[in-house]
Amino acid sequence: MSRFWSPLVHNLTPYVPGEQPKIERLVKLNTNESPYGPSPKVLAAIASENTEQLRLYPDPDASALKQAIAQLHGLDPKQVFVGNGSDEVLAHIFLGLLKHDQPVLFPDITYSFYPVYCQLYGIESKTIPLNANFEIHIDDYLKLAKKNGGIIFPNPNAPTGRALLRAEIERLIQQNTDSVLVIDEAYVDYGTESCVSLLRDEAGMAACPNNLLVVHTLSKSRALAGLRVGFALGHPDLIAGLERVKNSFNSYPLGKLAQAGAIAAIEDQAHLEAMANKVKATRAGLMDKLNELGFETVPSSANFIFTRHPKYAGEKIYQALRERGIIVRHFNKNRIQDHLRITIGNDEQIKALILALQELIT
Ligand SMILES: *Cc1c(COP(=O)(O)O)cnc(C)c1O
Repeated sequence: MSRFWSPLVHNLTPYVPGEQPKIERLVKLNTNESPYGPSPKVLAAIASENTEQLRLYPDPDASALKQAIAQLHGLDPKQVFVGNGSDEVLAHIFLGLLKHDQPVLFPDITYSFYPVYCQLYGIESKTIPLNANFEIHIDDYLKLAKKNGGIIFPNPNAPTGRALLRAEIERLIQQNTDSVLVIDEAYVDYGTESCVSLLRDEAGMAACPNNLLVVHTLSKSRALAGLRVGFALGHPDLIAGLERVKNSFNSYPLGKLAQAGAIAAIEDQAHLEAMANKVKATRAGLMDKLNELGFETVPSSANFIFTRHPKYAGEKIYQALRERGIIVRHFNKNRIQDHLRITIGNDEQIKALILALQELIT
């Protein structure tokens, strides 16, 4: 603590990211990274960049990357905003589109960065409890349709892994017309219907809703958490607002190497699909084993599962796994303190996890 801290800094409770231990040979299942590498084309693209050019600033608009993203999703580049990881994109969204007189709404159990941005930017928020099955109930949000400054949740939700059908989200877009709805699709590639198609209109932009923003990241399914690239898709007017915030904060959020690597990743959809299929197969096997051991696991549409054992405290299992060199995520939080969030690793890592759990659960 220092007397030079501003009152705002004094009162912050920062987000605590899952640890990145320096110890080698750990089975690291705590931050939903991909156990597989990114597309080999990413490394090739980065390696072929002219390093002499690094003395120059990168393209502040990342136009080639926006073009590649627009092409992949059948959108106009004006519907694309890119940032240094989707966390930065989310930060600009909170400040630029969700800070209004009425509170922003999000679930009580969700990505724990949302309340941190609210605190940083002085945004009022209201949490809406998930139901007993950890489901988002759209009618709870519709009841507050005229009484919110914005709505945000991940689909599938984190850390539960549960997904909503697109038709449910469409109801919200159609009826919550006085504020922006942000769908954080960090885990969409593991088997959830994306809302991006709602932004597409073959005949032009007439049908693109002006109140929907979809956020993606290259950190999870494209295995590039270390490159720091995320993006938002939506109506050009929403994107223009985000550009205003970005250009008032940092004009060059993505370096040349990140832009080159991201383009190659976006263009290799086949690699993404092959890796996502491997994760889904491992996930199904893990769900069965956990079931045999008496765990109660939330149905997952993500590259992690959310599970609890009725006879063992979450903290106990977390510690016991840690002693065996296996790191999972435990949240010391109301309603979920007995749950563990476990990233779907490769088959070898998941085998080690299952062996450890078989020892523990007797
Ligand atoms: C991992 C994650 C992000 C952040 O991803 P980055 O692009 O690495 O910043 C955003 N939202 C959710 C729900 C996540 O789980």
